[in-house]
Amino acid sequence: LGGSISRAIQQMSNATIIDEKVLNECLNEITRALLQADVQFKLVREMQTNIKKIVNLDDLAAGHNKRRIIQQAIFNELCKMLDPGKPSFTPKKGKPSVIMFVGLQGSGKTTTCTKYAYYHQKKGWKPALVCADTFRAGAFDQLKQNATKAKIPFYGSYTESDPVRIAVEGVETFKKENCDLIIVDTSGRHKQEAALFEEMRQVSEATVNPDLVIFVMDSSIGQAAFDQAQAFKQSVSVGAVIVTKMDGHAKGGGALSAVAATKSPVIFIGTGEHMDEFEVFDVKPFVSRLLGMGDWSGFMDKIHEVVPMDQQPELLQKLSEGNFTLRIMYEQFQNILKMGPIGQVFSMLPGFSSELMPKGREKESQAKIKRYMTMMDSMTNEELDSSNPKLMNDSRIMRIARGSGRQVREVMEMLEEYKRLAKIWSKMKGLKIPKKGEMSAL
Ligand code: GDP
Ligand code: MG
Repeated sequence: LGGSISRAIQQMSNATIIDEKVLNECLNEITRALLQADVQFKLVREMQTNIKKIVNLDDLAAGHNKRRIIQQAIFNELCKMLDPGKPSFTPKKGKPSVIMFVGLQGSGKTTTCTKYAYYHQKKGWKPALVCADTFRAGAFDQLKQNATKAKIPFYGSYTESDPVRIAVEGVETFKKENCDLIIVDTSGRHKQEAALFEEMRQVSEATVNPDLVIFVMDSSIGQAAFDQAQAFKQSVSVGAVIVTKMDGHAKGGGALSAVAATKSPVIFIGTGEHMDEFEVFDVKPFVSRLLGMGDWSGFMDKIHEVVPMDQQPELLQKLSEGNFTLRIMYEQFQNILKMGPIGQVFSMLPGFSSELMPKGREKESQAKIKRYMTMMDSMTNEELDSSNPKLMNDSRIMRIARGSGRQVREVMEMLEEYKRLAKIWSKMKGLKIPKKGEMSAL
C-alpha cells in the first residue's frame, strides 16, 4: 500500500512539473513571437500573468492536448486585450457626423481617409473630405486626387495656412450639403511634437468636437506605438484606431498598445495602397497573425474539422504551392454544405466567414453556395484547374451562364468571389505543412 501511495504522489508531482514545464515552454515560445510582432513588453508580461492564473494545471494533467489548451488560452487572452470593452462611436447614415483623422506623417492618414469615405460611399453614404493639412506641401493635391478618383466631394485650400479655419469652413460647407460623413484629414509631423498636438487640439475644438477621432497607426512603427498613441490621446479624445500597411511584413503588435493607450477599439485595417484595400478589423485572424500562425487562427483545426481526413494533406500541399483553383473552391463548398449548419464552423476559416457567410444569414449563404456550384458544374476541367484569372474570358463566361441557366452577371459575381478568396488564400503560399501527428499540436 505504502508503495502505491508514494508512487501516486510521485506521479502527481511529476505530472505537475511536466505540465508547468509545458506551460512555461509554450509561454516562452509565444512571448518571443509576440515581441517579434512588436507587442509591447509590458503587455506581454501582463498576458503571461493572466495566463498563469487562467490555465488550470490539473486540467492540463488530465488532457492530452496541453499545447492546444495553452495556446487557446493565450489566443483568447490576446483577443480580450484587443477589446477595450466598449464599441467606438458608430456614425448613422443620414445624420451628419464629423470624423477626424490623426496620426504621424506617413502613417497613412490621407490614404485611409479616402478608403474610409469610399467604403461608406459604396454602402450608400454621402461622405465628404476636408483637407486640414496645411503643413505638408502637396497635401491638398493628394487628397484632391484621391477624392476625385472616388468621386467624393472635397474641401481645401492652396493659400490658407490656418488648418483650423479650413476645418471649420469645410465642415460647415458639407453640413449644408447634407453630407452624413464629414471626414477631416489633418497634418502630421515626423516626430511627436508639441506643436502638432496643439494643432490637433485646436482643430478638434474648432470643428465643434468631432463625433469620432480616429488614430491612424502604421503597423511597422514597432515598440513606439504605445507612446505615440498615448500622446495623441492626451491632446484629442481618440475614439478608434486604424492600423495601416498590414500588407507589409509587420505583424501589427502595436495595435495592442494602441488599444491599451487609447482605450479604443481597432475598427479597420489598411492592406494596400489602393482605395479598396481596406478591411473591417477582425480580431481572430489578427491575433493568429500576431502569434505567427499567419492569418489562420485555428486554421489547422478547422481544416481538421471541415475537410475530410483523406483530403487534408492534398489540400494543404496545393495551398502551400499557392494554387487556389476554382476546383479547390468547389471542393470546399462541398465540404461546407456537408457540414450542415455552417455559421459557426466557418467563422474561423479565412475569407469564408464574414463576407461570404454573414452571421444569421446561413440559409441565404447556403443557397448562394449551391448556386455557385451549379455554375461551376458547367465549367471545363481546364477552367476548374487553372489558377490563371485571365483564362475566364467573355465567351467562356457566356458559355457557363448558358450551360447553368444563370445570368452572366451571376457568373461574374461567382468569379469575383473566387478572386477574393484566392487573394486571401494565396497567403498560404510557402506554408510549412505540419507532418502527421503535429497537426493536433497546433
Ligand atoms: P499621411 O502622411 O499620414 O497622410 O500618409 P499617406 O496617406 O500620405 O500615406 C503615406 C504612404 O503610405 C503613401 O505612400 C501611401 O500610399 C502608403 N500607404 C497608406 N496606407 C497603406 C497601406 O495600407 N498599405 C500600403 N502598402 N501602403 C499604404
Ligand atoms: Mg496626409
